[in-house]
Amino acid sequence: MPTPGRFEAMLREAALRVTRPRLAVLAAVHAHPHADTDSVISIVRRDSGEVSHQAVYDVLRTLTDAGLLRRFHPEGSVARYEARVGDNHHHLVCRSCGAITDVDCAVGESPCLAASDDGGYTIDEAEVIYWGRCPTCARQPVP
Ligand SMILES: [Zn+2]
Ligand SMILES: [Zn+2]
Repeated sequence: MPTPGRFEAMLREAALRVTRPRLAVLAAVHAHPHADTDSVISIVRRDSGEVSHQAVYDVLRTLTDAGLLRRFHPEGSVARYEARVGDNHHHLVCRSCGAITDVDCAVGESPCLAASDDGGYTIDEAEVIYWGRCPTCARQPVP
């Protein structure tokens, strides 16, 4: 967990103005990987006092656009945010309980960007979601 000063430095490095909501959202997502917007709002409110939904939405968008956060959106779920950026890691998602676990890229460094046929596209991201059941759910009988 980076120190508060580290979050300020991250904003400055991304050429973003340092504001209280931005610091609070960065800290919240660092502490709670894969949080959805509502969770981020309640964490920010708990830690930093009143802040509007719209302010948090705006900050999430700004930080994601700046590359400080990554957004991903499992089908059938709400969008999630995480601070682990730039490594093109993938996700394991449980169909039963919605648990999400990071998994490193399947092929290492220049992650999974070597499509079998790139169709002439310049590829900069591969989004891979492995769907299944988490260990806890796998132990339960199928509902
Ligand atoms: Zn599960
Ligand atoms: Zn992740």
